[in-house]
Amino acid sequence: MPKVAPFHSVKPNASNVHHDNSACTEGNNIESQYKRAGTAGRPRCDHCNRLAQQGA
Ligand SMILES: [Zn+2]
Repeated sequence: MPKVAPFHSVKPNASNVHHDNSACTEGNNIESQYKRAGTAGRPRCDHCNRLAQQGA
């Protein structure tokens, strides 16, 4: 189960969401220098939502 602790990107102009799935391609595309732990109060990204619905 690829669920991970919530994280988000602080990159300017990045989508205003957080990720919590290691299978999320959008989350995986976050460069390490922009990756921060936590949700930052942002909603979960659509791709992570889909993965969660699929039980992934
Ligand atoms: Zn995501």
